[in-house]
Amino acid sequence: MRNLLDLSQDELANLLSPKFRAKQIYEWVYKKNARSFDEMTNISKDVRENLKSEFYLDPLTCVRSETSKDGSIKYLFKLTDGKTIESVLLPMKEEISSEDGSVERHARYTICVSSQVGCKMGCSFCLTAKGGFVRNLSAGEIVAQILWIKRENNIPYERRVNVVYMGMGEPLDNLANVSKAVSILKDNDGLAIGARRQTISTSGLASQIKKLGELDLGVLLAISLHAVTDELRAKLMPINKAYNIAAVMDAVRAFPIDMRKRVMFEYLIMDKVNDNLSDAKALVKLLHGIKAKVNLILFNPHEGSPYQRPSIENVENFRTYLQSRGVTCTIRQSKGLDISAACGQLKERSKGIENDNA
Ligand code: SAH
Ligand code: SF4
Repeated sequence: MRNLLDLSQDELANLLSPKFRAKQIYEWVYKKNARSFDEMTNISKDVRENLKSEFYLDPLTCVRSETSKDGSIKYLFKLTDGKTIESVLLPMKEEISSEDGSVERHARYTICVSSQVGCKMGCSFCLTAKGGFVRNLSAGEIVAQILWIKRENNIPYERRVNVVYMGMGEPLDNLANVSKAVSILKDNDGLAIGARRQTISTSGLASQIKKLGELDLGVLLAISLHAVTDELRAKLMPINKAYNIAAVMDAVRAFPIDMRKRVMFEYLIMDKVNDNLSDAKALVKLLHGIKAKVNLILFNPHEGSPYQRPSIENVENFRTYLQSRGVTCTIRQSKGLDISAACGQLKERSKGIENDNA
Protein backbone atom coordinates (compact mmCIF):
# COMPACT_ATOMS: atom_id res chain seq x y z
CA MET A 1 0.00 0.00 0.00
CA ARG A 2 1.26 3.46 -0.91
CA ASN A 3 0.50 6.88 0.48
CA LEU A 4 -1.38 8.66 -2.31
CA LEU A 5 -0.19 12.03 -0.99
CA ASP A 6 3.37 11.07 -1.95
CA LEU A 7 2.48 11.37 -5.63
CA SER A 8 2.60 14.47 -7.78
CA GLN A 9 -0.33 14.82 -10.14
CA ASP A 10 1.92 13.78 -13.05
CA GLU A 11 3.10 10.66 -11.27
CA LEU A 12 -0.49 9.74 -10.48
CA ALA A 13 -1.55 10.39 -14.08
CA ASN A 14 1.17 8.03 -15.33
CA LEU A 15 -0.26 5.25 -13.18
CA LEU A 16 -3.88 5.74 -14.18
CA SER A 17 -5.84 5.74 -17.36
CA PRO A 18 -7.49 7.85 -18.50
CA LYS A 19 -5.06 10.45 -17.24
CA PHE A 20 -7.71 12.97 -16.18
CA ARG A 21 -8.48 10.69 -13.24
CA ALA A 22 -5.42 12.11 -11.50
CA LYS A 23 -6.95 15.58 -11.65
CA GLN A 24 -10.28 14.25 -10.37
CA ILE A 25 -8.57 12.50 -7.46
CA TYR A 26 -6.46 15.58 -6.65
CA GLU A 27 -9.60 17.70 -6.49
CA TRP A 28 -11.37 15.22 -4.23
CA VAL A 29 -8.47 14.95 -1.84
CA TYR A 30 -7.23 18.53 -1.71
CA LYS A 31 -10.24 20.67 -2.63
CA LYS A 32 -13.17 18.62 -1.40
CA ASN A 33 -11.45 17.04 1.60
CA ALA A 34 -12.40 13.46 0.72
CA ARG A 35 -11.14 11.04 3.32
CA SER A 36 -11.95 7.87 1.44
CA PHE A 37 -12.12 6.75 -2.18
CA ASP A 38 -15.82 5.91 -1.71
CA GLU A 39 -16.61 9.62 -1.57
CA MET A 40 -15.26 10.09 -5.10
CA THR A 41 -18.62 9.66 -6.74
CA ASN A 42 -17.60 10.66 -10.25
CA ILE A 43 -15.20 7.71 -10.35
CA SER A 44 -16.67 4.28 -11.07
CA LYS A 45 -16.92 1.72 -8.31
CA ASP A 46 -14.48 -0.69 -9.98
CA VAL A 47 -11.82 1.98 -10.29
CA ARG A 48 -12.41 3.03 -6.70
CA GLU A 49 -11.93 -0.56 -5.53
CA ASN A 50 -8.64 -0.73 -7.42
CA LEU A 51 -7.48 2.53 -5.91
CA LYS A 52 -8.42 1.29 -2.45
CA SER A 53 -6.30 -1.79 -2.86
CA GLU A 54 -3.25 0.24 -3.84
CA PHE A 55 -3.36 3.49 -1.92
CA TYR A 56 -4.21 5.00 1.44
CA LEU A 57 -5.10 8.65 2.06
CA ASP A 58 -4.37 9.17 5.74
CA PRO A 59 -0.70 8.70 6.60
CA LEU A 60 -1.09 10.26 10.03
CA THR A 61 -3.42 10.34 13.01
CA CYS A 62 -3.58 13.00 15.66
CA VAL A 63 -2.73 11.64 19.10
CA ARG A 64 -2.68 14.87 21.04
CA SER A 65 -3.29 18.57 20.63
CA GLU A 66 -2.94 21.64 22.81
CA THR A 67 -4.59 24.99 22.27
CA SER A 68 -2.86 28.06 23.56
CA LYS A 69 -4.60 31.13 24.96
CA ASP A 70 -3.47 33.07 21.90
CA GLY A 71 -5.23 30.61 19.61
CA SER A 72 -2.30 28.64 18.27
CA ILE A 73 -2.79 24.90 18.25
CA LYS A 74 -0.05 22.35 18.46
CA TYR A 75 -0.59 18.83 17.16
CA LEU A 76 1.24 15.61 17.85
CA PHE A 77 0.78 13.23 14.92
CA LYS A 78 1.51 9.54 14.77
CA LEU A 79 2.80 8.16 11.47
CA THR A 80 2.05 4.70 10.08
CA ASP A 81 5.23 3.27 11.66
CA GLY A 82 4.26 4.66 15.08
CA LYS A 83 6.81 7.51 15.05
CA THR A 84 5.54 10.91 16.12
CA ILE A 85 6.02 14.45 14.84
CA GLU A 86 4.65 17.89 15.67
CA SER A 87 2.95 20.61 13.66
CA VAL A 88 1.52 23.95 14.74
CA LEU A 89 -1.35 26.07 13.43
CA LEU A 90 -0.80 29.78 14.02
CA PRO A 91 -3.84 31.92 13.27
CA MET A 92 -3.11 35.59 12.66
CA LYS A 93 -5.18 38.61 11.80
CA GLU A 94 -4.27 40.39 8.64
CA GLU A 95 -5.44 43.94 8.10
CA ILE A 96 -6.12 45.02 4.57
CA SER A 97 -6.84 48.69 3.88
CA SER A 98 -9.23 49.36 1.03
CA GLU A 99 -9.04 52.37 -1.26
CA ASP A 100 -11.90 54.03 0.59
CA GLY A 101 -9.85 53.93 3.76
CA SER A 102 -11.79 51.19 5.51
CA VAL A 103 -9.83 48.41 7.12
CA GLU A 104 -10.87 44.80 6.72
CA ARG A 105 -9.69 42.04 8.97
CA HIS A 106 -9.02 38.62 7.48
CA ALA A 107 -7.95 35.52 9.27
CA ARG A 108 -4.64 34.36 7.94
CA TYR A 109 -3.04 31.11 8.89
CA THR A 110 0.49 29.88 9.14
CA ILE A 111 1.12 26.18 9.43
CA CYS A 112 4.47 25.05 10.78
CA VAL A 113 5.42 21.57 9.57
CA SER A 114 8.03 18.98 10.46
CA SER A 115 10.34 17.58 7.81
CA GLN A 116 12.02 14.75 9.71
CA VAL A 117 11.47 12.55 12.74
CA GLY A 118 14.26 13.91 14.92
CA CYS A 119 17.24 15.79 13.55
CA LYS A 120 20.95 15.15 12.98
CA MET A 121 22.13 18.68 13.60
CA GLY A 122 22.47 18.54 17.37
CA CYS A 123 21.87 22.22 18.19
CA SER A 124 22.46 22.67 21.91
CA PHE A 125 19.31 24.74 22.57
CA CYS A 126 16.87 22.50 20.69
CA LEU A 127 14.77 19.76 22.18
CA THR A 128 14.33 17.95 18.87
CA ALA A 129 18.10 17.47 18.76
CA LYS A 130 18.04 15.47 21.98
CA GLY A 131 16.40 12.40 20.54
CA GLY A 132 18.81 12.28 17.61
CA PHE A 133 17.79 11.48 14.07
CA VAL A 134 15.21 8.81 13.31
CA ARG A 135 14.16 9.19 9.67
CA ASN A 136 13.15 11.52 6.89
CA LEU A 137 9.49 12.28 6.30
CA SER A 138 8.19 11.46 2.84
CA ALA A 139 6.71 14.26 0.73
CA GLY A 140 3.23 12.90 1.45
CA GLU A 141 3.81 12.91 5.20
CA ILE A 142 4.72 16.60 4.96
CA VAL A 143 1.72 17.44 2.75
CA ALA A 144 -0.57 15.45 5.08
CA GLN A 145 0.21 17.75 8.05
CA ILE A 146 -1.20 20.72 6.15
CA LEU A 147 -4.13 18.84 4.64
CA TRP A 148 -5.14 17.44 8.04
CA ILE A 149 -4.87 20.77 9.86
CA LYS A 150 -6.81 22.67 7.16
CA ARG A 151 -9.52 20.04 7.11
CA GLU A 152 -9.96 19.59 10.85
CA ASN A 153 -10.08 23.34 11.46
CA ASN A 154 -12.54 23.91 8.62
CA ILE A 155 -10.20 26.43 7.01
CA PRO A 156 -11.91 27.31 3.73
CA TYR A 157 -10.11 26.22 0.58
CA GLU A 158 -9.59 29.79 -0.64
CA ARG A 159 -8.24 31.12 2.64
CA ARG A 160 -4.62 32.18 2.55
CA VAL A 161 -2.32 29.73 4.23
CA ASN A 162 1.41 30.14 4.68
CA VAL A 163 3.61 27.14 5.24
CA VAL A 164 6.84 27.28 7.21
CA TYR A 165 9.22 24.32 7.38
CA MET A 166 10.17 25.16 10.95
CA GLY A 167 8.92 22.17 12.85
CA MET A 168 11.05 19.19 13.76
CA GLY A 169 14.01 18.33 11.57
CA GLU A 170 16.33 20.04 9.12
CA PRO A 171 14.45 20.46 5.82
CA LEU A 172 17.60 20.78 3.72
CA ASP A 173 18.83 17.45 5.08
CA ASN A 174 15.74 16.01 3.37
CA LEU A 175 15.80 18.17 0.28
CA ALA A 176 14.36 15.64 -2.19
CA ASN A 177 11.18 15.08 -0.19
CA VAL A 178 10.82 18.67 0.98
CA SER A 179 11.14 20.05 -2.54
CA LYS A 180 8.62 17.51 -3.76
CA ALA A 181 6.22 18.57 -0.99
CA VAL A 182 6.64 22.20 -2.08
CA SER A 183 5.61 21.24 -5.62
CA ILE A 184 2.65 19.11 -4.55
CA LEU A 185 1.39 21.93 -2.31
CA LYS A 186 1.75 24.38 -5.21
CA ASP A 187 -0.42 22.37 -7.62
CA ASN A 188 -3.46 24.42 -8.61
CA ASP A 189 -5.66 21.31 -8.70
CA GLY A 190 -4.43 20.58 -5.18
CA LEU A 191 -3.99 22.96 -2.25
CA ALA A 192 -2.62 25.72 -4.52
CA ILE A 193 -0.25 27.13 -1.90
CA GLY A 194 2.19 29.15 -4.01
CA ALA A 195 5.91 28.78 -3.45
CA ARG A 196 6.10 32.38 -2.24
CA ARG A 197 3.89 31.39 0.66
CA GLN A 198 6.27 28.60 1.65
CA THR A 199 9.36 29.30 3.75
CA ILE A 200 12.15 26.80 4.26
CA SER A 201 14.13 27.33 7.44
CA THR A 202 17.64 25.92 7.66
CA SER A 203 20.40 25.73 10.20
CA GLY A 204 22.74 26.69 7.36
CA LEU A 205 23.71 23.72 5.20
CA ALA A 206 25.45 25.92 2.64
CA SER A 207 25.84 23.28 -0.08
CA GLN A 208 22.16 22.36 0.21
CA ILE A 209 21.11 26.03 0.10
CA LYS A 210 22.94 26.13 -3.23
CA LYS A 211 21.10 23.03 -4.46
CA LEU A 212 17.76 24.46 -3.34
CA GLY A 213 18.58 27.64 -5.25
CA GLU A 214 19.34 25.64 -8.38
CA LEU A 215 15.93 24.00 -8.20
CA ASP A 216 14.52 27.53 -8.49
CA LEU A 217 11.22 26.61 -6.84
CA GLY A 218 10.48 30.19 -5.79
CA VAL A 219 10.33 29.35 -2.09
CA LEU A 220 11.42 31.79 0.58
CA LEU A 221 14.48 31.11 2.66
CA ALA A 222 14.99 31.52 6.39
CA ILE A 223 18.40 31.10 8.00
CA SER A 224 18.70 30.12 11.65
CA LEU A 225 21.70 32.28 12.46
CA HIS A 226 21.51 32.74 16.26
CA ALA A 227 25.10 33.98 16.64
CA VAL A 228 27.41 36.45 14.93
CA THR A 229 30.79 34.84 15.67
CA ASP A 230 31.90 31.42 14.49
CA GLU A 231 33.12 30.62 17.97
CA LEU A 232 29.70 31.05 19.60
CA ARG A 233 27.77 29.68 16.65
CA ALA A 234 29.82 26.48 16.63
CA LYS A 235 29.04 26.03 20.32
CA LEU A 236 25.33 26.42 19.74
CA MET A 237 25.17 24.71 16.36
CA PRO A 238 27.73 22.01 15.49
CA ILE A 239 26.88 22.44 11.77
CA ASN A 240 28.89 25.68 11.93
CA LYS A 241 32.07 23.57 11.95
CA ALA A 242 31.21 22.27 8.50
CA TYR A 243 29.76 25.53 7.14
CA ASN A 244 30.85 28.65 8.94
CA ILE A 245 29.02 31.97 8.91
CA ALA A 246 30.91 33.22 5.84
CA ALA A 247 29.97 30.08 3.88
CA VAL A 248 26.31 30.48 4.84
CA MET A 249 26.29 34.15 3.85
CA ASP A 250 27.87 33.30 0.48
CA ALA A 251 25.17 30.73 -0.15
CA VAL A 252 22.49 33.28 0.78
CA ARG A 253 23.93 35.88 -1.60
CA ALA A 254 23.75 33.36 -4.46
CA PHE A 255 20.18 32.31 -3.65
CA PRO A 256 17.56 33.38 -6.21
CA ILE A 257 14.89 35.43 -4.56
CA ASP A 258 11.94 37.46 -5.75
CA MET A 259 12.94 41.15 -5.84
CA ARG A 260 10.05 42.04 -3.57
CA LYS A 261 11.03 39.53 -0.92
CA ARG A 262 13.74 39.23 1.69
CA VAL A 263 15.71 36.42 3.24
CA MET A 264 14.70 35.95 6.83
CA PHE A 265 17.38 35.58 9.49
CA GLU A 266 16.16 33.92 12.64
CA TYR A 267 17.97 34.91 15.77
CA LEU A 268 17.14 32.91 18.87
CA ILE A 269 17.90 35.15 21.82
CA MET A 270 19.19 33.55 24.98
CA ASP A 271 19.91 35.43 28.19
CA LYS A 272 23.56 36.57 28.46
CA VAL A 273 24.55 34.36 25.54
CA ASN A 274 23.82 36.48 22.49
CA ASP A 275 21.58 39.32 23.69
CA ASN A 276 24.21 42.03 23.96
CA LEU A 277 24.08 45.23 21.94
CA SER A 278 27.51 44.36 20.53
CA ASP A 279 25.86 41.28 18.96
CA ALA A 280 23.27 43.51 17.35
CA LYS A 281 26.02 45.72 15.94
CA ALA A 282 27.89 42.76 14.48
CA LEU A 283 24.63 41.45 13.04
CA VAL A 284 24.01 44.69 11.17
CA LYS A 285 27.51 44.46 9.65
CA LEU A 286 27.00 40.84 8.69
CA LEU A 287 23.75 41.60 6.86
CA HIS A 288 25.15 44.57 4.99
CA GLY A 289 24.23 44.36 1.31
CA ILE A 290 21.71 41.56 1.77
CA LYS A 291 17.96 42.04 1.43
CA ALA A 292 17.31 40.68 4.86
CA LYS A 293 14.80 40.82 7.66
CA VAL A 294 15.48 39.61 11.16
CA ASN A 295 13.12 37.62 13.30
CA LEU A 296 14.08 37.64 16.96
CA ILE A 297 12.89 34.48 18.70
CA LEU A 298 12.73 34.42 22.45
CA PHE A 299 14.32 31.26 23.76
CA ASN A 300 11.73 28.90 25.10
CA PRO A 301 13.14 27.10 28.12
CA HIS A 302 12.83 23.35 28.49
CA GLU A 303 13.92 20.96 31.17
CA GLY A 304 17.62 20.31 31.29
CA SER A 305 18.52 23.19 28.99
CA PRO A 306 21.42 25.39 30.09
CA TYR A 307 19.89 28.53 28.59
CA GLN A 308 17.39 31.07 29.84
CA ARG A 309 14.87 33.42 28.36
CA PRO A 310 16.29 36.91 27.76
CA SER A 311 14.88 39.99 29.44
CA ILE A 312 12.29 41.85 27.38
CA GLU A 313 14.36 44.98 27.84
CA ASN A 314 17.41 43.45 26.14
CA VAL A 315 15.28 42.14 23.31
CA GLU A 316 13.67 45.55 22.78
CA ASN A 317 17.08 47.24 22.80
CA PHE A 318 18.36 44.70 20.31
CA ARG A 319 15.43 45.37 18.01
CA THR A 320 15.63 49.13 18.39
CA TYR A 321 19.28 49.07 17.39
CA LEU A 322 18.63 46.94 14.29
CA GLN A 323 15.78 49.19 13.23
CA SER A 324 17.82 52.34 13.78
CA ARG A 325 20.26 50.91 11.24
CA GLY A 326 17.52 50.20 8.73
CA VAL A 327 17.26 46.47 9.33
CA THR A 328 13.65 45.26 9.38
CA CYS A 329 13.11 43.33 12.55
CA THR A 330 10.22 41.52 14.18
CA ILE A 331 9.99 39.78 17.50
CA ARG A 332 8.33 36.42 17.23
CA GLN A 333 5.42 36.68 19.59
CA SER A 334 5.68 34.00 22.16
CA LYS A 335 2.90 32.12 20.54
CA GLY A 336 1.88 29.19 22.55
CA LEU A 337 4.19 29.78 25.47
CA ASP A 338 1.57 28.25 27.71
CA ILE A 339 1.34 25.16 25.55
CA SER A 340 4.57 23.36 24.70
CA ALA A 341 5.77 26.13 22.47
CA ALA A 342 8.89 25.27 20.54
CA CYS A 343 8.71 22.20 18.40
CA GLY A 344 9.86 19.08 20.11
CA GLN A 345 8.32 19.98 23.41
CA LEU A 346 4.91 18.39 22.98
CA LYS A 347 6.57 15.23 21.79
CA GLU A 348 8.92 15.25 24.77
CA ARG A 349 5.99 15.54 27.16
CA SER A 350 4.11 12.76 25.44
CA LYS A 351 6.85 10.17 25.65
CA GLY A 352 5.51 6.69 25.52
CA ILE A 353 2.97 7.36 22.79
CA GLU A 354 5.37 6.05 20.13
CA ASN A 355 5.94 2.86 22.03
CA ASP A 356 2.23 2.15 22.31
CA ASN A 357 1.97 0.58 18.89
CA ALA A 358 5.18 1.21 17.02
N1 SAH B 1 16.07 22.82 11.41
C1 SAH B 1 15.60 24.04 10.91
C2 SAH B 1 14.11 24.20 11.02
C3 SAH B 1 13.48 23.70 12.28
S1 SAH B 1 13.97 24.50 13.79
C4 SAH B 1 16.30 25.22 11.56
O1 SAH B 1 17.03 25.00 12.51
O2 SAH B 1 16.15 26.32 11.04
C5 SAH B 1 12.92 25.92 13.69
C6 SAH B 1 13.30 27.04 14.63
O3 SAH B 1 12.99 26.69 15.99
C7 SAH B 1 14.79 27.37 14.58
O4 SAH B 1 15.01 28.72 14.23
C8 SAH B 1 15.22 27.06 15.98
O5 SAH B 1 16.26 27.89 16.35
C9 SAH B 1 13.97 27.27 16.81
N2 SAH B 1 14.09 26.67 18.13
C10 SAH B 1 14.70 25.51 18.48
N3 SAH B 1 14.66 25.33 19.82
C11 SAH B 1 14.02 26.41 20.34
C12 SAH B 1 13.67 26.81 21.68
N4 SAH B 1 13.98 26.08 22.72
N5 SAH B 1 13.02 28.01 21.81
C13 SAH B 1 12.69 28.75 20.74
N6 SAH B 1 12.99 28.42 19.47
C14 SAH B 1 13.66 27.26 19.26
FE1 SF4 C 1 17.67 20.45 14.02
FE2 SF4 C 1 16.73 22.96 13.65
FE3 SF4 C 1 16.66 21.76 16.11
FE4 SF4 C 1 19.00 22.51 15.07
S1 SF4 C 1 17.28 23.84 15.62
S2 SF4 C 1 18.58 20.52 16.06
S3 SF4 C 1 18.69 22.10 12.90
S4 SF4 C 1 15.55 21.12 14.29
